[in-house]
Amino acid sequence: MKQLRVNIRRVGLFICLLFALLALYGVYSLTNYGSRWFSTNANTWLRSAKKDVIPGDIYDVNGVLLAGSDVTETETGFTAVRRFNDDALIRRSLVHVLGDADGKVANGVETFMAHALYGFDQTIVERVRDFVSGARRKGDSLTLTVDSALSRYILECMEGMGVQAGAVVVMDWKTGAVLAELSCPTFDPSDPADSSGGTGDPYFNRATQGLYAPGSTFKTVTAAAVLSDPQLSSRSLTCTGSFAAEDQNGQLREITDAGTDHALGILVSHGQIDLRRAFRVSCNSAFASSAVQLTDAKLKKQAMAFGFDANFLFREIVVENSSYPEGARSPWDVAMTGIGQSTLQATPLHLCLIASAIANDGIMMEPRLLSRMTASDGSVRPAYGMRIERKVFEDPEIPALLREYMYDVVNEENGTGSQAALAGWRVCGKTGSAEVDGQEKTNALFIGFIDDERAPYAVSIVLENMGAGGEYAAPLAHDIFEYLIEHLQNAAPAL
Ligand SMILES: [Zn+2]
Repeated sequence: MKQLRVNIRRVGLFICLLFALLALYGVYSLTNYGSRWFSTNANTWLRSAKKDVIPGDIYDVNGVLLAGSDVTETETGFTAVRRFNDDALIRRSLVHVLGDADGKVANGVETFMAHALYGFDQTIVERVRDFVSGARRKGDSLTLTVDSALSRYILECMEGMGVQAGAVVVMDWKTGAVLAELSCPTFDPSDPADSSGGTGDPYFNRATQGLYAPGSTFKTVTAAAVLSDPQLSSRSLTCTGSFAAEDQNGQLREITDAGTDHALGILVSHGQIDLRRAFRVSCNSAFASSAVQLTDAKLKKQAMAFGFDANFLFREIVVENSSYPEGARSPWDVAMTGIGQSTLQATPLHLCLIASAIANDGIMMEPRLLSRMTASDGSVRPAYGMRIERKVFEDPEIPALLREYMYDVVNEENGTGSQAALAGWRVCGKTGSAEVDGQEKTNALFIGFIDDERAPYAVSIVLENMGAGGEYAAPLAHDIFEYLIEHLQNAAPAL
């Protein structure tokens, strides 16, 4: 009997402990990730707040008003209607960052940061003060890290090139601040009927939710894995223009170098080649065979260090998770993964984080959108600080080598990214031309950065069904870097 009582007490204590842990976890997840549940439609507090709080204004990094409110007094209270920037190009270039009044764009600032915009971060003192003075309650105003002039410029470039669908992300690789995040096709939030043409859903944010085959931009990850393996990294390869490996049915399948066309009798082969030159000329044969020699496990380990298969829970921005292929895989699958094809998937934002981490000695900063939060009385609220998302490399030597490889791609003879070069600056990058089933042309990709602390900018570009990355995405990277250098003094957001 006594033993039974002791046991009951132990079980009781154990259950109490579990509840305590659950409560702690609840507090932790609300503090860090509260915006995720807060911004759902199921939140009735938010729905009722929208009736009696004027939403805060939203500014870009230079203080340009992106979203204000037109307030009309009515007999029963008031109505507040969102008024966006006067410039249609600015509205369309930033609609996926901000979101729209109808909520068709998921996870824009309007919804994801609704707790601040609708005054839920206000103190009791502020609420009492507004109540006593009879002032209309107004939520906090947000100053974002994005630059509206840069965003407008990028949209102009993309439309000038005839881009039908795609995404561009520009970040500060030292701080994680997002300077631009564009998705095409887009639309005007002030005139939703006016979608810009293009192909696909204009409400879908391709920069943060679009999952793409990274193509040869993934060779940065494969190269990192090879460089971490002393036996493989010193090896010289012979490229015959193609590499054959067994698929899951035991059939030999070929991976050819770009430009090879058996039907036309064209064979591109690089002969004796080391990893550095293979990277510069984007040799598929060398990278496919390297991936097979590395093994799937080691390639996956390196991809996971870069954030593939991670559950991204950033505090200010919602990003779809990137994935490394699962399950039992044939040598051919692994070879295809080594060149960024197979079922690998990554968002443009994640690709920009990969470039940023290489630029920043292997340290990947959390992407940020919020520069400042200001209460309705003008006082600045304490905001989140910068945060390291992950350390991709323990050893700064490997990112330093990758920077040299990526420098060659842009600046050395036969480099595939030469059109990204910018006189006087160390532009580093990697091109990609990813094949997509059912698409006539490849997706054109480029990831890269300026290797200079005075201009710490990283970009990722994905242009759907456009052609070769070196031909279409690299020149756009050049234009963006050139713009940033010309406007250097404006482009450093406070975090
Ligand atoms: Zn080759």
